[in-house]
Amino acid sequence: MSSASRSRRPAPTTAPPAAEPRSSPAPAAAPETRPREKRPFLLDFFPLDTPDQTRLSAFYDRLRTGHLSTTRCPKDRSLHWPPRTACPDCHTEELDWVDLPELGKIYAFSAVLGGAPLGMESEVPFAVGLVDLDGAPLRLFGRIEGRPWNELRIGQAVRVETYDIGDGRYFYRFRVRD
Ligand SMILES: [Zn+2]
Repeated sequence: MSSASRSRRPAPTTAPPAAEPRSSPAPAAAPETRPREKRPFLLDFFPLDTPDQTRLSAFYDRLRTGHLSTTRCPKDRSLHWPPRTACPDCHTEELDWVDLPELGKIYAFSAVLGGAPLGMESEVPFAVGLVDLDGAPLRLFGRIEGRPWNELRIGQAVRVETYDIGDGRYFYRFRVRD
């Protein structure tokens, strides 16, 4: 039953024999008979944000209310990025949530011009970059919106914004300030 269970498309027919008239239709016109293939599995680039999926669900809850935040250790005052479930210095799990500054400046950027991940093809070209937050010793990575990538520049002022990624989950990105 090898022919019935074949899942691969038949190999293209090679050039017709010389005796065949040139006007014969192309052999590739045969109707598709194999089962319709499922779409490729789409990777989910965004975290699952509910308490049963992550111990950092508070981070996403705060994004949902428009606040980009992170954890700070109340003992040694260290500020973490990304947010943590335990302090990397003293290992306490009793951490405070603090809002991060909304303003920052582009430290570096790049652009995705092609080869975007599945599901993001329609967004090409788009810019990503590192942003130094004003007044916090943190450098964050994220999408940069608001200008074409080739109009961005190092040191450009940006603002943090939170947004619904389309299915009720929220994430953050940066937008160039005018
Ligand atoms: Zn600590």
